Order: sequence, then structure tokens, then C-alpha cells
Amino acid sequence: MRLYEYRVSMTLNWDIGMSQTLVLNASYEPLNITTWRRAIILMLKGKAESLEEDFSHNIHFNKKLPTVIRLFYYVKIPYREVTLSRKNILLRDNNSCQYCNYKGKDLSIDHVIPRSRGGVDIWENVTTACLRCNVQKGNRTPEEANMPLIIKPYKPLSNLNFEATKQIHSGKHEDWKKYVIGLAA
Ligand SMILES: [Zn+2]
Repeated sequence: MRLYEYRVSMTLNWDIGMSQTLVLNASYEPLNITTWRRAIILMLKGKAESLEEDFSHNIHFNKKLPTVIRLFYYVKIPYREVTLSRKNILLRDNNSCQYCNYKGKDLSIDHVIPRSRGGVDIWENVTTACLRCNVQKGNRTPEEANMPLIIKPYKPLSNLNFEATKQIHSGKHEDWKKYVIGLAA
């Protein structure tokens, strides 16, 4: 496929200009999120392959818009922890109460093992709860209160996982799901 043919059809598809592509490392781990234009350039340069495509968008004849690509070479990424903050806890939990699935305002942070009983501020011990559930649970563990958690609290792997999770939850990138580890349903 010659480059100029892509250019012509890319300009015709201006409506998909905002579409994003998930880039996987050679090891299949998510690496970053880029524009589909950059993704195509990487593919044209022989640096990446397409793993998932959006069949509703034809870029050129039988070429579809890549939504997930994988690099042929390995990029070393320094490990960065995701900050434990209210905003990030809500994001991890898809802005919904992990006891009753309520989505909306009035969400609070619940300590799974209450602080008064030795529960600490770590990712694995904090969860999103609506005020009603938080009050109902009170000073008890989920087992004692008979309030099972929808998703067991976990430590997010990376900032990228976070961003990808957000996009998947927004409904834009269902096909990214199988490549993002530790994703809340
Ligand atoms: Zn609730």
C-alpha cells in the first residue's frame, strides 16, 4: 500500500479524526494511547501490527481503522505508582458504589476494614460507597454487614491502565477490554 493513497483517504475521513488507538508493547501490555493517524504511520513504517479494527470505518478499500496495535519492538517503561486519592479511587471503581452499584453524586470512600478496627489507607482497603451503604455498613466488615463487594478493591497497575479503563467505561473502546489487565467490569 502506498503512502499517498492513505493520505488521500485519511483526509476524506475527517469525521474519525478524534478516534484513538491503544498501543501495546511487544509483550502485549498496554503502552500508551495515540491517534489512529500515528498508529497507521507506525504500521506503515513496519513498526507495528494491527490487532483490532473498527469495521464501521474504512480508511482505504479493505483497510479498517486500527483501534489496537502492537509494536514489534519492546519499549521499557519506568514504573509509576498511581496516587491513592479520592478521585482515583472513584475512577477505579467506575464512579459507582461497590455495594449497590449506585452511580451519582454523594459517593464516599469506605474503608473495607474500618479504620477504627485497624484498617489502613491502602488501595486494597478502600472502596467507593454511596452514603446510604456507608452508613448502613457502619463499623463492620462487608461480611459482618452481609454487604458483599461488587469488585474486590485492588491496586491499579499503571496510569495508562487508568486512562484506558476510563475510555472503556465511557463505552468508546469496548475492544480494548481484553488487553487491559485488572479492569473493573
Ligand atoms: Zn450503595
